[in-house]
Amino acid sequence: MTSPDQQQLILIVGAGQAGAELAFALRQTGSTARIVIVGDEPFAPYQRPPLSKSYLAGKVDLAALYVKPKEAYDTANIELRTAVRAEHVDRSAKVVRLSDGSTMLYDKLVFATGGRPRPLQAKGVQDAPRLGNLHYLRTVGDVDRIHRQFQPGFRMVLIGGGYVGLEVAAAAREHGMHVTVLEAMPRVLARVTVPEISAFYERVHREAGVEIRTSAVVSSIVTDESGDAVTAIVCSDGSTTPADVVVVGIGLLPNTELAERSGLEVKDGIVVDELTRTADPDVLAIGDCTRHPNVMYGRHVRLESVPNALEQARTAAATLCGQHRPHHAVPWFWSDQFDLKLQMVGLADGHDRLVLRGSTSTRSFSAFYMKEGRVIAADAVNRPQDFMIAKRLVAQQSMVDPSRLADESQPLKTLASAPPV
Ligand SMILES: Cc1cc2nc3c(=O)[nH]c(=O)nc-3n(C[C@H](O)[C@H](O)[C@H](O)COP(=O)(O)OP(=O)(O)OC[C@H]3O[C@@H](n4cnc5c(N)ncnc54)[C@H](O)[C@@H]3O)c2cc1C
Repeated sequence: MTSPDQQQLILIVGAGQAGAELAFALRQTGSTARIVIVGDEPFAPYQRPPLSKSYLAGKVDLAALYVKPKEAYDTANIELRTAVRAEHVDRSAKVVRLSDGSTMLYDKLVFATGGRPRPLQAKGVQDAPRLGNLHYLRTVGDVDRIHRQFQPGFRMVLIGGGYVGLEVAAAAREHGMHVTVLEAMPRVLARVTVPEISAFYERVHREAGVEIRTSAVVSSIVTDESGDAVTAIVCSDGSTTPADVVVVGIGLLPNTELAERSGLEVKDGIVVDELTRTADPDVLAIGDCTRHPNVMYGRHVRLESVPNALEQARTAAATLCGQHRPHHAVPWFWSDQFDLKLQMVGLADGHDRLVLRGSTSTRSFSAFYMKEGRVIAADAVNRPQDFMIAKRLVAQQSMVDPSRLADESQPLKTLASAPPV
């Protein structure tokens, strides 16, 4: 704890993208506090999006993933403690106990603990903890293990047809693997997008040779005699898919237990306000682990995206420096599959109208989601210009004539600047 002649200590738990961005944003905002980041992975903070894209494909190495070069931490006087886990937080004493047995007193504590993959519940998985070819994908370590079986000609089965699963499918197919996606819902991307976009991605993947099986609920696994390797995945309809390597991508569980055990409110995410504060004035939380208010949509959301991690980090830095910078950013996200760059802005749930600009039978189009005449979200496939304007339309919740939005002869930017209809 700080007396006037002591330096304040800001302790950041979680050395991911949000934690690292916060530390550097604090310095940029003028903080002279002692800043310590504690992370349980053995690496300096790195970006995760390439894990299912260029890093998996072997096109970039770990050094290209770092949020900041390692020397930058010394230069900015940020203490980075890797391979050590925060295990207990006592908020009344303002002390955190670490896995190496040490304790740290803090003045301000920030949870930036991210999340972990949702485990597969299927018969046989829990009985075989040493499975060498069944993987999740969250960390560099996960991908390095996948790489051993990322071989042309190998049969990869992906459990889960969400963005991460489809990105891995694309990278594996391009690498000459035989790829099957097993999706429990009736369509891929069912939790995140509309049937038209799901159908588009299913077509693109099938054309590239990926086998996509929907309504395929995984019920059990078959292992080899040693019990150390999966040989097939069995679905509830009795069908069996042989596998040399299996990657499970069925969602994320936010790492909230440490915060919850310390008595903070958790509702599928550590509950924070628009300044990233918990109910404890000395404890903040940022990134994938938070549930925060979104003014635009009038509700609390938990987002799993880099832009959200960056924005919340900037807000937290301002809050810790005594400034007022509410986190009101419009959510956005991207996904790269084959030659397709998908960029999404806003939250589409609750939309009452979908307007397509261009055709989903091509590889370049945009989709606008409208509610009561206003644009609340948009997806742009290989259309970066549309995306830039869509961001403005969504941020302003613009009222736009749907027929003009669909008409490609009308430049989008004229709609963005047009008076409301
Ligand atoms: C394969 C993949 C692809 C992705 N693609 C995209 C994309 O294309 N676009 C996009 O916007 N987003 C993408 N994301 C999501 C994006 O990477 C996350 O939103 C972002 O990393 C969130 O950062 P974070 O710092 O909140 O959490 P994390 O990156 O999860 O970092 C949290 C860190 O805290 C550590 N930790 C947890 N508990 C403790 C503890 N008690 N003590 C010490 N350390 C702890 C964790 O191990 C982890 O290292 C992708 C994610 C994955 C996994």
